[in-house]
Amino acid sequence: MKKIGVLTSGGDAPGMNAAVRAVVRKAIYHELEVYGVYNGYEGLMEGNIKKMELGSVGDIIQRGGTILYSARSEEFKTDAGQQKAIEQMRKIGIEGLIVIGGDGSFRGAEKLTQKGFPCIGVPGTIDNDIPGTDYTIGFDTALNTIVNAVDKIRDTATSHERTYVIEVMGRDAGDLALWAGLANGAETVIIPEQEESFESVVGKLKRGQERGKKHSIIILAEGVGSGVEYGKRIEEETNMDTRVTVLGHIQRGGSPSGYDRVLASRLGAKAVDLLLDGIGGRMVGIENNIVVDHDISDVLAKKHAVNMNMYKLANQLSI
Ligand code: ADP
Repeated sequence: MKKIGVLTSGGDAPGMNAAVRAVVRKAIYHELEVYGVYNGYEGLMEGNIKKMELGSVGDIIQRGGTILYSARSEEFKTDAGQQKAIEQMRKIGIEGLIVIGGDGSFRGAEKLTQKGFPCIGVPGTIDNDIPGTDYTIGFDTALNTIVNAVDKIRDTATSHERTYVIEVMGRDAGDLALWAGLANGAETVIIPEQEESFESVVGKLKRGQERGKKHSIIILAEGVGSGVEYGKRIEEETNMDTRVTVLGHIQRGGSPSGYDRVLASRLGAKAVDLLLDGIGGRMVGIENNIVVDHDISDVLAKKHAVNMNMYKLANQLSI
């Protein structure tokens, strides 16, 4: 392989730039030519592709978002769209593609690989919802953003003796909520994988109030439903002064944490190594601090599982 491409796709995540940097530098280190594809699969079909140099990725390791931009494309889901993308790459002589994104993006990478164009997936999403890796790039940064925000809200919750419902991201996964719940010492964590009954949450709030608790923090994963609705129900049921904060897109941005930068560097480099060995159809990941790779179709066939021991611990520590 002499020429490879790299793109970012789906929802952006802090650390994607560090991954792009690692891919470009590692490729050039091994004397490959490397091409950046702009706007994800949309740009791939349009041929929005530029050769990257060492300097193209200078000064980006610390930046959130993605310098290659991201997009969603319906056309790419069709055979014709995928064929168009492959033709664009063949025109330039690109022989392998690294896709940094979430599971939707990996489905695209799987399709291209099945059509004879080797792709490697690098998990980049704040949701931590991809099987075959302990962490996805962006999760640690988003977690820290949430932890800092909840610390601030806690000050006000205590001053005003309020109950707060804080809705956090994660799509269908409860990881961000669970980790933030533990890290913030929240009274309650509600995740889609193990939904606690409303009655049980209310019971806990009332017992806390009787014990003289000054505030209560409930962290609700977006996969469970609307925080605003949940807060309304809590207030109606308990008569406690209840406020809701939906953290929203602040969770997706910002400078990546040290951990995410290191993870992105390791995974991006591994993706290049696989293509150099002529291997496609894999996803790279980290398991027990070892960089691993798995068949991308196997990854897509599995369902991410939240760590239930951690969920139990969060409950034990918040009695
Ligand atoms: P994420 O990668 O963050 O999960 P999406 O689910 O939006 O984000 O997927 C990103 C893009 O990947 C989509 O806009 C589409 O172009 C492509 N994609 C998603 N699903 C498929 C699929 N089944 N086949 C081919 N391409 C897909």
